[in-house]
Amino acid sequence: MSENKSDIIIIGGGVAGLSTAMQLARRGAAVTVLEREQIGNGSTGRAAGLLGQLRGTAEHTRMLMDGVEIVKELEAQAGVEIYVQTGSVRVAETPERAQELTDLIEMGRSINFDINEIPIDELAERMPYMRTDDLTTACWCPTDGHLQPAELASAYHKVGRDHGVRYETNCPVTAVLLDDKKAHGVQTPKGEFHAPILVNAAGPWSHLVAGLTNTTLPTAALGHVYLTTQPHPDHPVDRLSPGFRNRHHRIYGRPENGGLLVGMYGEDCPEFDMNTLPPDFDMSAMKARRDDLHLAMLIHAAQQRFPWLNERTPMHVTTGIMTFTPDGLPFCGQLPDHEGLFYCTGFSGHGIVQSPAIGVIMSELILDGQSSYDIASIEADRYWEVPGFQDRAEIQQRCYKMQGSYYGRVEGKTAATQTDPKEASA
Ligand SMILES: Cc1cc2nc3c(=O)[nH]c(=O)nc-3n(C[C@H](O)[C@H](O)[C@H](O)COP(=O)(O)OP(=O)(O)OC[C@H]3O[C@@H](n4cnc5c(N)ncnc54)[C@H](O)[C@@H]3O)c2cc1C
Repeated sequence: MSENKSDIIIIGGGVAGLSTAMQLARRGAAVTVLEREQIGNGSTGRAAGLLGQLRGTAEHTRMLMDGVEIVKELEAQAGVEIYVQTGSVRVAETPERAQELTDLIEMGRSINFDINEIPIDELAERMPYMRTDDLTTACWCPTDGHLQPAELASAYHKVGRDHGVRYETNCPVTAVLLDDKKAHGVQTPKGEFHAPILVNAAGPWSHLVAGLTNTTLPTAALGHVYLTTQPHPDHPVDRLSPGFRNRHHRIYGRPENGGLLVGMYGEDCPEFDMNTLPPDFDMSAMKARRDDLHLAMLIHAAQQRFPWLNERTPMHVTTGIMTFTPDGLPFCGQLPDHEGLFYCTGFSGHGIVQSPAIGVIMSELILDGQSSYDIASIEADRYWEVPGFQDRAEIQQRCYKMQGSYYGRVEGKTAATQTDPKEASA
């Protein structure tokens, strides 16, 4: 292959692009990853790194179960240990949340996911730093865990490089080269790169990259914040303490360096216009203000479950930008308007955990024309002809609404109908 020619160009060096590149290269494709800044410095570098496999539907849970196995294989191939298997709990304090857990346990067991109910007194022993007296039900997923997203990104990068992936950093794609309706390359400040297949894995920027071909992609860039406490002398958090999700209070978390990491999907979140951010915008340099309203809401919610935590608790605050879609599910595959252009984006706060299986799915779609997974709910074209999804303001509002209901809505037996695009347009 000549210098700037490959089989596939991936636009974006976050976990989605890196995992896809690695899987494609493993199958013998010549792949180039073009990254506007540094590898893993987008949403990936800001993530909390929770790997919870339980989702509202069997096909999504199965995908994430496979993902954990892929991470374990990756550890062996990259010669690193990155996965911290702590197990995780979901807790319920209302009858509808208790029913949600019952439904999810039933669904999980039906696909051999390791999940069971855990008595509240046992939970209190495992997590003595957590308030449990108001809980009615909890479930335990022993194979869940977490990792440091930067370590996952560098493992994908290493194994990809071993299979011949070429990575170009500080290399923003500024134009897509089209021959009629067929993509054949991109323009960058480092010159043109050519390939018959391009993958838009540009995270929160992906709708801007789609805009280069006048394609409207229904994603929005929304802010997210989490806090990490320093070790508390009276409430130590063991490094192997379980991760947790408390959807009633909209919070999730895990242990981190003897302290507690807590994040929140609130009703409200900051909105970002990626178009107005400087070309050299570096997400890793984002800082949350200590008087920020969303941080105050997070601390208040965290306090409901961890009453010892307050504004004066020594903590580090992390903020970043996520890519949301109107139904909270990613876009994987092609759109009808151009040939050779694939999408791999919109991971709505769960791109780290989804990335291992998504790499497999994308490589299958690109190399085989179909996936061995049931991907109906994540196909890129599911909003293509649905009214209301061509206008940016409308898209922004629908994605924002989805973020607000992300933890607010009840999963379980009702989840499948809630993610139908036609429902969303109603
Ligand atoms: C605060 C926070 C906490 C999170 N916690 C979790 C968690 O616990 N678990 C979980 O699973 N997920 C979590 N997420 C979500 C997760 O980080 C994302 O879903 C995931 O990183 C998305 O990966 P990506 O590759 O799609 O996007 P990104 O990591 O953003 O990568 C996209 C890349 O594309 C590059 N790019 C953009 N435009 C161009 C261009 N024109 N040319 C070339 N390159 C370009 C960007 O520079 C960027 O590096 C969290 C996110 C945030 C912000």
